[in-house]
Amino acid sequence: MTTYFPTIGLEIHAELNTVTKMFCNSKNDPDAEPNTNICPVCMAHPGTLPTINFEAVKHVIKVGHAVGGTIADFTEFDRKNYFYPDIPKGYQISQYEHPLVSGGALHDVELTRIHLEEDTAKSTHDQGDYSLVDFNRAGVPLMELVTEPVITSGEQAAAFAKELQLLLRYLGAGEANMEKGQMRVEANISVSADKDVFGTKVEVKNLNSFRSVEGAIACEIERHTKALESGGEEIIQETRGWDEQKQTTFSQRQKEGSADYRYFPEPDLPKIWISRVPEFQPDKITKEMPELPWERRERYATSYDLDTQTSDIFVQSLPWAAYFEAVIKEIGEDPKQQKLAVNYITSDFIGLMKKDENVPYFAEVDPARFIDPIHFAKVIEMAAEQKLSSRGAKDLLATLYREGGDPEEIAEKEGLLQKSNEGDLAQIVSDVVVENPDEAESYKQGNEKVLQFLVGQGMKKSKGSANPQVLKELFEKELAA
Ligand code: ADP
Ligand code: MG
Repeated sequence: MTTYFPTIGLEIHAELNTVTKMFCNSKNDPDAEPNTNICPVCMAHPGTLPTINFEAVKHVIKVGHAVGGTIADFTEFDRKNYFYPDIPKGYQISQYEHPLVSGGALHDVELTRIHLEEDTAKSTHDQGDYSLVDFNRAGVPLMELVTEPVITSGEQAAAFAKELQLLLRYLGAGEANMEKGQMRVEANISVSADKDVFGTKVEVKNLNSFRSVEGAIACEIERHTKALESGGEEIIQETRGWDEQKQTTFSQRQKEGSADYRYFPEPDLPKIWISRVPEFQPDKITKEMPELPWERRERYATSYDLDTQTSDIFVQSLPWAAYFEAVIKEIGEDPKQQKLAVNYITSDFIGLMKKDENVPYFAEVDPARFIDPIHFAKVIEMAAEQKLSSRGAKDLLATLYREGGDPEEIAEKEGLLQKSNEGDLAQIVSDVVVENPDEAESYKQGNEKVLQFLVGQGMKKSKGSANPQVLKELFEKELAA
């Protein structure tokens, strides 16, 4: 049987988070009322001139630092000429020969380049026999990242895109929400029977979820492999789309060569020598770099002994990570309480919030919904000291989440405090024995299973506030004779 080798390279566009657009002073807010964030520059009125948004340049430099790429010393913008209704100037300002960043690697995938360009306007074609164009998005700073052809599966491609999204969020460079079109993935796919020779490459455009990245690539690999196996349908170099409903790709158009774009340096913008701009100096950038996703992953694994799955819950979500750290700060060094806190956050608190809020984007949960970390830490302390049963702790968290308030007062008021006091519990135990004479007798005769039932009755009587371990011991003592 022949082995087939799939090869994938990604081109990912991500909108950057800046106050204004890439080359003018219009607000960078594509979601506003259509055609309100526009000006003569981004509408390409004659006689207007663009200017470079340094905030956007800085974001890309930071991404470059994070991935260990080479930041260009000399960089410039180029015109990429093509006609389309969503591109007012008749060209897009992009970068060609001198991208801001070259090389580097992310998630074990080597990168070719990262450059800066401007987004296009947004066309809508579903309003009858005409099209609508919203220019709010025209000129929004757009980062394009190109990987080397080194990815081998749809899963790996989706994992890469997720890591890039995370990096952009950590850097504050962008939200990169795929469903909102803030990050868009194009996948180049080829399959070959010869490891050293690439097969014909096909490009799948407009993938707008991690699931479709994975699905489209898997689908293409299968199509190519089948073609190679049977010598049937010929694979031609083309652009394809992804049909989410049918879970299959379809032919869109034959790809234009890059020469068609007649790239040339943008004459209306100055060149940039990065080393001459004080705020782009490496020491300055380093100082502004936050902890990166992989650094945080490593720290959580070593400091709190978290397994990958658990630590990723926090690493994947900045608000949850901040919350976790705030709770840990209250708790201090006690590893047992830290462990408890992790469990109660990941299995109980997140569960509560998901159920209640139907949080659409886990990563974007509103921090205002969090239980005060001081209160959360108090609950953990009470649970660690056995003042609360695990049931009691869960109930207390639910109340704190829904209504707020002071954990100790609520625990007191709702009778959640665990009774470990043997005097208090002795009465309950003797009542249970009196009310359940058959079971008590059965236990005395050696049926140990019935003890669980008796403890259960005792728990019920105490309204869940008894410490089951203490109850169990009291029953054993009471019925030992
Ligand atoms: P083009 O000139 O057609 O745009 P590029 O060389 O610029 O091609 O590469 C575009 C993307 O395609 C890159 O992400 C690159 O890794 C990927 N790529 C190039 N060749 C292949 C191939 N044979 N199979 C899969 N991906 C490829
Ligand atoms: Mg290309």
